[in-house]
Amino acid sequence: MKEFFAKFVLAVKAHKGRTVAISVAAVVLIFAIITLSCFGAVTFNRFATGYVPTEADLALINENPENQYARVLIIGVDGMGDYVNRMEKGSMPNYEKLFGGFTTENGMVVGASVTHTGLAVYPTISAQNWTSMFHGVRPFYHGIKGAASNKDLENGKTPNEKYPSFIKAYLDAHPEGKVLSSCTWKAVNNGAIEDLPQVKKINNDCETVYAIANGNRDEAGNAIIRNEALVSRIKAETAVDGYADETYALTDAVTVQRIIDETAAEDYKIAYMHLNQVDSAGHSYGNNKHAYIKAVSRVDVLLGELYRAYEARGWLDDTLFILCTDHGHRYLQDGTGHGGNSDVEVTVTFAIAGKTVKQGAPGKYVNTDLAPIVAYALGVKADENWQGKVPYGMFTLLG
Ligand SMILES: [Zn+2]
Repeated sequence: MKEFFAKFVLAVKAHKGRTVAISVAAVVLIFAIITLSCFGAVTFNRFATGYVPTEADLALINENPENQYARVLIIGVDGMGDYVNRMEKGSMPNYEKLFGGFTTENGMVVGASVTHTGLAVYPTISAQNWTSMFHGVRPFYHGIKGAASNKDLENGKTPNEKYPSFIKAYLDAHPEGKVLSSCTWKAVNNGAIEDLPQVKKINNDCETVYAIANGNRDEAGNAIIRNEALVSRIKAETAVDGYADETYALTDAVTVQRIIDETAAEDYKIAYMHLNQVDSAGHSYGNNKHAYIKAVSRVDVLLGELYRAYEARGWLDDTLFILCTDHGHRYLQDGTGHGGNSDVEVTVTFAIAGKTVKQGAPGKYVNTDLAPIVAYALGVKADENWQGKVPYGMFTLLG
């Protein structure tokens, strides 16, 4: 052994240059492996697992009317993370009713699949996640990325056309279809959803709230919303506060009311809404603060309004309900906002309820999965470039 080391030292001395080169190469290689491992650990968990439905899976839907949905209602709640799971038991009665599984008055059993350990894509920025949710791929691919991505999307920057949204995928397969999108945060309408003749987009902001308070008429002279109680509330609250809606509570109420009004006039195949008050409270006060909890509670009230409207129309039997969110929020002591990789920012709730949904908790859900989930439920083939999958254990007819 001693002899071996003596020889080794001599050899090293004789080839000093090569030894240095090999050592440097080894150090560089080790650093590269460590860097790649860290990068992989951060990003790898965002890779979707689940089904890519086959033609036979889709035929089970398309050839059997009892497996088809008349419509999908998607409730997008910005910035809610997994907070519904942290709310006091019983404080979210409408959420619990809608996503707890129920039997309709016609005896239809509506299953609910809910996870509170879903994952946002990284970074946990709104525009990047919503675009991933609609277009089924991570931000590097759809191209809405970088520090200015929220503003870019608001200003109408469009994602890479190679990755269509589930709305476009649906309309390509069913050109006669109709889609509605009512948003408090305009970025989803302006950038994430393609401009297509079959898609009706409505953006609601403070100006909309003022317009409702000041006569409730649009440019054509028609009522903006058809809910006198809400009109009165908006008039009263804006009169007292002197401003429209700093918290987005009123704007979100308008966003939901317009879904209720528009779907009463026409039965859209996909109706999407984007609510913003939870995110706003998170930015102003941080996760777990009173204002944040109140905002989540107010979303529950809106869920109740949707549920009752759909119930009154006899639509609970053949509607697929989805509740989704882009990311959560940091605690105040860590700085308000989001964008990082902490548990509270990354972890999201995903809830889905419908007659073909398997009661319980699904397998791993990542935000890129929204697109393939909606497409599958409507019997539409997943786009071949989507990275999202239909999570295991989410539907009764899959797997
Ligand atoms: Zn957001």
